This record gives sequence, C-alpha cells and structure tokens, in this order.
Amino acid sequence: MVKKIEYIDEIFKLLKEELEQHKFPPVSHPKWDEIINTPFTTLISCILSLRTKDEVTDKASVRLLKKYNTPEKIVKLSEKKIQKLIYPVGFYKTKSKRIKEISNTIIDEYNSQVPDTIEGLLKLKGVGRKTANIVMVYGHKKSGFLPIDTHCHRIPNRLGWINTKTPDETEFALKKILPKKYWDDFNHLFVTFGQKICVPISPFCSKCPIENYCKKISVLKSR
Ligand code: SF4
Repeated sequence: MVKKIEYIDEIFKLLKEELEQHKFPPVSHPKWDEIINTPFTTLISCILSLRTKDEVTDKASVRLLKKYNTPEKIVKLSEKKIQKLIYPVGFYKTKSKRIKEISNTIIDEYNSQVPDTIEGLLKLKGVGRKTANIVMVYGHKKSGFLPIDTHCHRIPNRLGWINTKTPDETEFALKKILPKKYWDDFNHLFVTFGQKICVPISPFCSKCPIENYCKKISVLKSR
C-alpha cells in the first residue's frame, strides 16, 4: 500500500496561514500588474529566474515582457537588445540566446503556441522538468503537475516524507503520496517557505509553524 503523509491537511493549513503575508515567487504570481500572463510570458520568466534572485527576475521580466510578450516580438530583437533588457539576471548572455532560439522554435514548429504537454515543452532547448511543470501550472493553468525546484526538493526530505536524491526523483515520489488537491499550491507555498523559514543552511525551526510535524532529517544546525 502507498504511504500517505500524516497530518497533511493540518500542515497545509498552517503553511498557508503563515505564508499568506509574503509575496509569492515571480513565476507563480496569480496576476502580474505589468505583464499579460500567458504561457509564453510564464515560460520566458521562468527561464530568466534560473539561478537568479526573485527581485532581479521580477524586474527583468517586466523590462522584457511588458512590451515584447510574444515569440514574434522577441525574434525581432537582437541578442544584444535582449541582453540589455534582462541584465543582470544570471547567465544573461546564454539566456538571451536561448530566449531567441525558443521563440523561433515556437513560431516554426508549434504555430506560435507554447506546447501544452510536458513532452512538448521538454523538446524546447534548455527547458527541463521544473520549467515544463511551471509552464503547465502557472502558464496553461492546468492541474496535475508538480514543479520541483531546490526548495520543493529539500523540504519534503527534511520533513521525512520522502528520501530522494534529485528534484526529478522528488517529483515522482511526491506524486505517489501527496493528495492531488494540494498539487496546485505546492510549488509556490514550498518555494516561499524555503526562502523565508526552512532555508537551506540553518533553518528557522524555532519559528516554524510545522515544527511538530517535522523529522528534521539531515538538519545539523537550526535557529
Ligand atoms: S522544523 Fe525546521 S527543518 Fe523542519 S520544516 Fe520547519 S524549518 Fe524546516
């Protein structure tokens, strides 16, 4: 029989109460004020966010996507112009090249529509499972997907829910034990929780709302 997570309803309730005061990460904003939220803008913003702080991603996304929000508009820009708009995101030169390549592929091979399957998204150069899942959830607004980044991988392991080595393994392991009703909220809740409380080194266990439910696996030091 598949193991279930104990006290999951209580845990999600406590996390939601604790985290609703915080701003959610850029790619999962329910609604951007300055950018039209489409599968394409979600995809590009997610590419910008890789190895980049949220505040930097947020501003770079607005500079690029406020005006250039379709693949057709992006391919008309030079790589230099994209670089200028997205700087200082991490790897801005590689990302500007990628963004143009992906835009060209979407126009040529997908009739200007961002693929709406994980398999289709994974065929785009530089798109991995995390980005593909984020586009499905926050771009196409579809249920049944679990985007896993470093926080979503680390925290369920600390809690003792799973014992996995990589984010991809975590995605498949969690899908077996996490009730489906929580999949849509999982990414933005756990990313925010991982940025504010259950941080990578020395988590703030003393102010953690779910400390009573945590096995603190591999937590050597906490505050
Ligand atoms: S008790 Fe500590 S390790 Fe466990 S979830 Fe909370 S902050 Fe993270």
